[in-house]
Amino acid sequence: MKKINVEQLALLGGKKIFEQAKSTSNLLKPNFEQFLAYSKIFYEQMWYSNNGPNVQLLEKRLAIFHNTKHCVTFSTGFWGLALATKVLALEGRTEIIMPSLTYRRMADMAAWTQLSPKFCEVDESTLAMTPETVAKCINKNTALILGVHPIVNCCDVEGLTELAKKHQIPILFDSVESVYESIESGKIGGFGNAECFSLHACKLINGFGGGYLTTNDDKLAAKLSSMRTFGFTNVDHVEYFDGLNAKLNEMHACMALASLDDIEQQVKLNQARYKCYLRCLDEVDGIELIRFDESKACGYKNIVARITKDWPFSIEDTISLLNSENILARQYYSPPLHLKEMQFDFVKTDLPLSKKLSNNHLNLPCGQKVDEKDIVQICNFLKFISSNSTEISNELTRNGGL
Ligand SMILES: *Cc1c(COP(=O)(O)O)cnc(C)c1O
Repeated sequence: MKKINVEQLALLGGKKIFEQAKSTSNLLKPNFEQFLAYSKIFYEQMWYSNNGPNVQLLEKRLAIFHNTKHCVTFSTGFWGLALATKVLALEGRTEIIMPSLTYRRMADMAAWTQLSPKFCEVDESTLAMTPETVAKCINKNTALILGVHPIVNCCDVEGLTELAKKHQIPILFDSVESVYESIESGKIGGFGNAECFSLHACKLINGFGGGYLTTNDDKLAAKLSSMRTFGFTNVDHVEYFDGLNAKLNEMHACMALASLDDIEQQVKLNQARYKCYLRCLDEVDGIELIRFDESKACGYKNIVARITKDWPFSIEDTISLLNSENILARQYYSPPLHLKEMQFDFVKTDLPLSKKLSNNHLNLPCGQKVDEKDIVQICNFLKFISSNSTEISNELTRNGGL
C-alpha cells in the first residue's frame, strides 16, 4: 500500500504497510526434502548426538568450503568463540582487543573467559577495525586480538594478522558476517590462529542454531573438539577441566547441510535484493547504501545504510516511523559496546567515532522473507516521509512526540 497523506502513517493510527513484519534476519528456508534426506541417516542409525554422521559430514564439507584443514562444530557460535578465546589467550595476560561497534553480546563472551575487553575504534568509511586502531590498544596485558568483520565487506585481514605476528599476540577472527567472502589472499576461514562462524537461523548458513570454527592448526582443532565434549580425550578420561558440553546435535547439522547445499542460490537472491535497494535508494536523498566490494566474492546478506546530513529526521525518529509500519529496521550495532552498562570490569575508553557511526547507520530489512516488491515499498515510504518531513514533525510534536 502506498501512503498519500500524513494521516495514513501507522504512527498516527493508519494501517501498517506490512501485515507481517519485515526483519533484518536472513531466515533461509532450504529444501525440505534435502533436510529430511540427511535426517533419515541419523534417525535410522539412532545416532542423535555425540559426533554423529551428519556432524562429521558437515565438518568435512565446511572445511572444504573454507579451504582449511579442520572444522570443529559447536552448539552455538558464542561457545565456539569463548572456547577458542580461552585456549588461545596468552597466559597471565588480562585484555582482549575487540571493536566497540560490533555484535551486541561480544563483551559477555569475553566475560566468560575472564578477559577484560579493550575496545578499539573503527574506520569511518569501512566501519571496520584497522591495524592502526588495534595497534593503539596493544600493551603488555594484551592476551588476544579478536578480529571482527563488519556487516558489509571484510576487515583488513592481512594487516591485522601481520600486526599480531609482529607483537607475538594470537589473533582469532569472528567471521560470522563474512562467511561467504573472499579477500585477495584467499577464502575467509583460513586466517589467523582460527576463525569462528555461526549457524544461527538468522545467518547465511541456517542450522536452526549452532556454530563452528575453522583452523589449519592440528593441535588447536583437537583440543577444541575435546573441550566442547566435557574435555574428554578418551572414554571417561577428562584431559581439560575447563571443558563443557557445547556439541552440535544431528538435527542442527542436517539443517546446516541442507542450507550449505543451497548457498549459491541464496547468495544470488540476496544479491538481487541488494541491487534492488541500490536502485530504489538512489532516489532517496539523505540515505546511502553501504556498498559491497563486488570485485571479490560477497554474500550480500545484510543491507546497511548511512544517514547523511540531508536526511530530515533523527535516527531514533526514523526507526520509530519504520518500525510502526512493521519495517523492522535497526540502528547499526547500537549502543556501541563501550557505552553499555556492564556487570564486569572493562577498560573505559572514549570512542567518539564508534558512537557517531552507530548513530548514523541502520540495518534495513533483508533476507528470504523480503522480496523486491517489499523493497520498493520500503524505499517509497522513505521517500514519502522525507518529502513530507515538516508536516510529519509538526504532527508528531502535536501528538506528544514519538
Ligand atoms: C550472531 C553472531 C555471533 C554469535 O553467534 P551465535 O551462534 O548466535 O552464538 C557472533 N558474532 C557475530 C558477529 C554475530 O553476528
